[in-house]
Amino acid sequence: YKRINQATTIAVAEGDGIGPEIMRATLNILKAAGANIKTEPIEVGQQVYLSGNSSGITEESWKTISKNKVILKAPITTPQGKGYKSLNVTLRKSLGLFSNVRPVSSLHPYVHTNFPEMDIVVIRENEEDLYAGIEHRQTEDVVQCLKLITRPGCEKIVRYAFEYARAYNRKKVTCMVKDNIMKLTDGLFHTVFKEIAAEYSDIESNAQIIDIGSAKIAASPENFDVIVTSNLYGDIISDIVAEIGGSVGMAGSANVGKNVAMFEAIHGSAPDIAGKKIANPSGLLNGAILMLAHIGQAEVADKIKNAWLTTLEDGIHTADVYQKGKSTKKVNTEEFTEAVIERLGQTP
Ligand code: ATP
Ligand code: MG
Repeated sequence: YKRINQATTIAVAEGDGIGPEIMRATLNILKAAGANIKTEPIEVGQQVYLSGNSSGITEESWKTISKNKVILKAPITTPQGKGYKSLNVTLRKSLGLFSNVRPVSSLHPYVHTNFPEMDIVVIRENEEDLYAGIEHRQTEDVVQCLKLITRPGCEKIVRYAFEYARAYNRKKVTCMVKDNIMKLTDGLFHTVFKEIAAEYSDIESNAQIIDIGSAKIAASPENFDVIVTSNLYGDIISDIVAEIGGSVGMAGSANVGKNVAMFEAIHGSAPDIAGKKIANPSGLLNGAILMLAHIGQAEVADKIKNAWLTTLEDGIHTADVYQKGKSTKKVNTEEFTEAVIERLGQTP
């Protein structure tokens, strides 16, 4: 059994590009906030790829991950050229990270967005659908990709979405499918959604066809709350949501499985600004906040979130979100980190 006060050990991947800079910032904030964690580094990414390991992850790292079961990962760079496998896909598949969770909410008026009321969580199925990677060549001119949808897969992700809604006090779960055309595959997803929704009478639920549904997200995102959908649709929707939220450098995400969970920023390694010490650590910090909630440290998570919001409200902004007239101070990564630490204990 686990003693209540025992620190949780996290496998930490520093990443490439701005990765090490934003990881240092994030861990400093977690430490100052009193998060009860220990960290163990894992080697993934560019260095591993370039050492001749095409998977981008070492054997030792796999061991650290299976021992600790929680990963905080900064963005990594997959080198150009053939033969290098995407580490993200490898991690998702090998660790059974079936659920990708991306919350995006407006920070209006502190960060510009056309949608001041939006507050959406996209929950994307992460293992099945067209991303199962089953492709065939039928003839020289005909190729096929198999869309794989299973009842257990649908049940896992849909139940996860409703449990998430309950845990985070969300009011509505919307399912996005194209079951008017794909009657069997998307039909199964929708059927399972209706079955499970009936068990959660405290939460409103509805289903929309993916094409008009996406259009409605883009036009009036304030009408959505939690969205649950299959892999490909979720991939597309979660990028739309992050983009219209005006905050690609701000959002974090969770990849959750039965035994392991991995937390990260949604953006890439930003090689164009690497080493300049100006990167916004907010995306990874928000990933870490999701991680703290996941390991049962919701209080520390809230404390950090509030300090972060207060910092933004005080107009202390990194260059990527700095706006003349609205921001009061343009800061670098370290100054932003210090500003958040100074505000721990404050609420916006
Ligand atoms: P990848 O292929 O790794 O996903 P990408 O092409 O999507 O990478 P990103 O690395 O996400 O690109 O960067 C896109 C743009 O956003 C770049 O100009 C980058 O400098 C900027 N950017 C990304 N993350 C941040 C951040 N945390 N702080 C400031 N700017 C950022
Ligand atoms: Mg990208």
